[in-house]
Amino acid sequence: MIDSYGRSIDYLRISVTDRCNLRCQYCMPQGGVQSIPHQEILTLEELLRLCRLFASLGVRKIKVTGGEPLVRKQVASFIGHLKEIDGIEQVTLTSNGLALERCLPELQAAGLDGINISLDTIRREVFTFLTGTDGLPMVLSSLQKAIESGIPVKINCVPILGMNEEDIVPIASFAQKGVKAVRFIELMPMGLACRFQGLPSSVVQELLKTAYGPLCPSQAKLGNGPAQYYKIAGFHGQIGFIDPMSHRFCQSCNRLRLTANGRLKLCLAHEAGADLKELLRDPHYSDEQILIKIKETVWQKPLQHAFEQVPEEGAQANMFRIGG
Ligand code: SAM
Ligand code: SF4
Repeated sequence: MIDSYGRSIDYLRISVTDRCNLRCQYCMPQGGVQSIPHQEILTLEELLRLCRLFASLGVRKIKVTGGEPLVRKQVASFIGHLKEIDGIEQVTLTSNGLALERCLPELQAAGLDGINISLDTIRREVFTFLTGTDGLPMVLSSLQKAIESGIPVKINCVPILGMNEEDIVPIASFAQKGVKAVRFIELMPMGLACRFQGLPSSVVQELLKTAYGPLCPSQAKLGNGPAQYYKIAGFHGQIGFIDPMSHRFCQSCNRLRLTANGRLKLCLAHEAGADLKELLRDPHYSDEQILIKIKETVWQKPLQHAFEQVPEEGAQANMFRIGG
């Protein structure tokens, strides 16, 4: 599928739930979360129908995300069904790791192609403060088991001023311990994240150079997105930077997002999109008509994000509803 700016769209991120078993301070309110009512969340059958349609339009890679995707029942079997769709080449998962360990055998059996584990700190008290849960030992144990399972694992870390600077160097060292890549993601000013200041990638790079020596640019294409990868001498895994704030990569954006209640989102920082749930649940709409709606919507994909102009729609949005 090609959008109106000539970009090839082959990657879909599906949020299977807006529920989460953590409350990261920059993502989700500690209390009083207005969850999407159950009946508005797409069923797994509805999601599969949509994914088949997206695959027929050229989507090749799917990321299952949330909220926390592993709090939704039967996610592993859903992943197995995604893997059976004609045209889908890769299905990966993003998880906070809390419930991952017990799900690993099923995920492996389903043929999952990769897991991104979010890890912002390796200090237990900071983890508890940041996420509202004393869950670090569980996450680290999941991480270790995931590495041992042979499914390729990446770590995603969001560096935040005054929160986790001192974790950056030790978290990077997981790239010496069986993790395929450790990626540092610049904090995007959305919803609760506007209360924090993210560290630019340039600052993180300086910290890593001081600790480990030069970062050598690598041509590796390890994921579906815009990460720039580097090698460090003695590290098996790579170090990646996703820096939407300091470098625009919108000109090569290849992704669409589907929220748990069936809204097709074209860009994190814009409201533009379409409610596909209404169409799915209206017996008058055929697959062909839904395909037309998807193609018309994708044609409206904005050229670039607008995070610099806060408050845009992005400032009101919440990542746990969109899936990161
Ligand atoms: N619960 C899962 C997890 O934490 O990996 C999946 C959903 S979560 C929304 C996906 C990713 O988005 C996480 O790595 C999280 O750190 C990141 N994220 C959330 N809010 C963000 C923000 N404002 N800027 C950058 N990344 C953000
Ligand atoms: Fe949950 Fe992931 Fe958001 Fe943290 S970043 S609150 S784990 S959805």
